[in-house]
Amino acid sequence: MRRNWGNWGEFDAPRGSKSKKPVELKEIGEFGLISWIRGKMDLRDSNIASGIGDDAAVITPPKRCVSLVTTDILIEDTHFRLDYTDPLRLGKKALSINLSDIAAMGGTPQYFLLSMGLPLHLPFRWIEEFFHGVQQVAEEYNLSLIGGDTSLARKLTINVTLIGRGKAGEVIYRKGAQAGDQIMVTGTLGNAALGLRILKSHKGDSSISRAGDSDLAELIEKHFSPTSRIAEGRLIAKNHLASAMIDISDGLMADLGHILEESHAGAKIWISQLPLSEAYRRKAPQYISRDIDLAISGGEDYELLLTTPRKKGEKLLGLFRQSGLKITPIGEIVDPRYGLRLLLDDGREYTPRRKGHDHFKKPR
Ligand code: ADP
Ligand code: MG
Repeated sequence: MRRNWGNWGEFDAPRGSKSKKPVELKEIGEFGLISWIRGKMDLRDSNIASGIGDDAAVITPPKRCVSLVTTDILIEDTHFRLDYTDPLRLGKKALSINLSDIAAMGGTPQYFLLSMGLPLHLPFRWIEEFFHGVQQVAEEYNLSLIGGDTSLARKLTINVTLIGRGKAGEVIYRKGAQAGDQIMVTGTLGNAALGLRILKSHKGDSSISRAGDSDLAELIEKHFSPTSRIAEGRLIAKNHLASAMIDISDGLMADLGHILEESHAGAKIWISQLPLSEAYRRKAPQYISRDIDLAISGGEDYELLLTTPRKKGEKLLGLFRQSGLKITPIGEIVDPRYGLRLLLDDGREYTPRRKGHDHFKKPR
């Protein structure tokens, strides 16, 4: 099978060799690769008694804390296309999406395991770039790689398990939202989904993001390199400001739906309050007919969605303002019998075309 590795095959003629052929994984082997990874990712934490190299990692559990453990998988052609994803950004994203889950619990990330299913003809250069991305994020958040698994696979598969810590009394769950609570969201909505829509409409040619239009570049970058809201999550948890929280990976509607289900509650969302970036406002109407829909149901924003008791709302907004972080009230928790409704300014209900992402359902 001929595969399109983007440009990653071309670079890598081994030093001194006349061959144009890139070094492939099959020449390095599973154990060669593991020892290369081990050399590359230094451990920075005295609580790790043993990391890569034994049957299981040995870590000292944090004192007076609970462990937060989360995992996420990225599969070629399901979550990313090799021909328009570069390995550096994929490496960053593999960690960022897990960081987002730790952020949503109000925790601090610490260790990760990285498992990879790799095709035989993968150029080694691709793996080097991928680890470059992993390292960048690991350094930014002071994370240590403590193990993983490596196997041959038909489709490239990346799985990260991230372990973090939190204080038992600070951890924020999806359950806990109560009627009267305000609903708030960090950052802006819909950028990643619009970025993907733009890429698809240009047949995946990501060079359009370098064509000089800064709006397009910003939106596409948000699709490839989501930001994780660790600082925001910590600020909220430390000050006990949220009654429930989740990160938005499958779209506002779908993820708010999870809070409502776990909390046995209903919600009103005011469409005109949804925070949109300037780039989104300018570009969305060119790419979709009902331009608010991607902010309502587009996936991969990785913003935090939370509910806060009304008497804590002002404090929360004040703390975010002081810290230079963005958060916006967008609605209110109500009785469960009300369900989930999106409201226009004149009080009419708005029904978006699709509700959110579900891997096993066709988009509506
Ligand atoms: P086992 O046969 O017990 O699964 P492996 O030979 O797969 O052990 O792994 C040897 C060591 O290398 C283990 O400590 C494992 O955690 C680590 N390891 C394997 N693959 C990776 C990877 N992709 N990233 C980080 N560590 C890895
Ligand atoms: Mg193994």
